[in-house]
Amino acid sequence: MTSMTLGQSQKLRDAVRGLMPLAEDIFNKVRAASQDDVGVTRAAWSIQDQAAADILLAAARNHGLTTRQDAIGNTYATLNGMNETAPGILTGSHLDSVAKGGNFDGLAGAVAGVIALAAMKKAGLQPGCKLSAMGTRCEESVWFGIAYIGARLAVGDMGRAAFDALMRLDSGQTISAHMSELGIVADDIWHHDHVEITAANTKAFLELHIEQGPLLVEQNVPLGIATAVRGNLRFGDGICFGAYQHSAATPRRLRQDTVLAVTELLQRLEILWHDIEDNVDPSAVFTVGKIFTDPSHHALTKVPGECHFSLNFGSTEQSSQDRFEAAIADLTAEIGARRRVRFVMGAPVGSSPTPLNPTLRSSLVQSAERLDIPCTEFATVGHDASIFARAGIPAAVLLVRNNDGSHNPDEKMAMADFEQGVQVLAATMIELSNTKNNAEVI
Ligand SMILES: [Zn+2]
Repeated sequence: MTSMTLGQSQKLRDAVRGLMPLAEDIFNKVRAASQDDVGVTRAAWSIQDQAAADILLAAARNHGLTTRQDAIGNTYATLNGMNETAPGILTGSHLDSVAKGGNFDGLAGAVAGVIALAAMKKAGLQPGCKLSAMGTRCEESVWFGIAYIGARLAVGDMGRAAFDALMRLDSGQTISAHMSELGIVADDIWHHDHVEITAANTKAFLELHIEQGPLLVEQNVPLGIATAVRGNLRFGDGICFGAYQHSAATPRRLRQDTVLAVTELLQRLEILWHDIEDNVDPSAVFTVGKIFTDPSHHALTKVPGECHFSLNFGSTEQSSQDRFEAAIADLTAEIGARRRVRFVMGAPVGSSPTPLNPTLRSSLVQSAERLDIPCTEFATVGHDASIFARAGIPAAVLLVRNNDGSHNPDEKMAMADFEQGVQVLAATMIELSNTKNNAEVI
């Protein structure tokens, strides 16, 4: 069932298509405003990040949407609905980028929201409830080290003490002092006892984002609908301590070789990963991003006495993360005792997996089917959507095919794929706006 007539849905489709030059113009203007020697750099609450916000808001205003920024600087472009008091629907993604990153990571979702709403306005469609396109601040957070700051502040998931403790990693400047340079008075965030986005005022959050892995390219499908946001379990600096010994003079039984101990640990963890991948969670990922001996001590003729390494396991299943953590504890103890070395792993950091809303997911799938746009479903990486989901707001993520990954200037999203993503997003938002209440979404 669809709440739009065939004529309305064709009008919406044409309007989205007609606004693609505008989308391209916004992408180009923002790229020009944040161009680095390689790729783009838009650190949150930088002049470049604010330029992105201003360009987006100006385009939204020019196309009949109401715009504003909240106390933190998150941007909103809004199209009023028939029912002014009903909970609204939010879409969007982040404005900031990593250093020397790609232009579409985050920005694609922020632009998609504005284009979807502008298309509805152009097609003369009034949604059932208020729809807003959001540009969040500080998802990548290259300066402050903690991700999702804008979304977390918007849903009231960060207290004043935690906020005040944030400092720029490069300069040591506090976040408040830094924001004030853009005219954002951080004190205002705390003046009103007001949480911007709640489960009571928002019935859904939909995020369009470029895919950061190779699945859609591999499967030759333009869109993906995320099943869940993977959690992760991370040990950033594991160390194995043994002894530096003469490589020729020390028999095996007396060696305390840290590199062979660490490689045994890694091989056994890889076997566990394959087991989880085959039997529990096909989307589980395991990465040893760092492994090194100390260049001031290591030598061709020495048994390595110290080895550093990182472990990063991700899964949509908390039980798999727990199993991995237990295995690390067991294996480091067993291998350490047998090989006469000592593992010091430090405290793990990470996050829990976040399931995405099944009703929203199937609404996206149905919209894609109605529009005859191929899509597939798989798990994704951390996005702002997970912050909204954890705040009790039904959330979903729509991924757009993108060659060459992200967090690098080589990302490639075809505008034809982006258009298909916006088509699905716009149609889904209209459909959801006509559902009566939260209960139908949840
Ligand atoms: Zn992103």
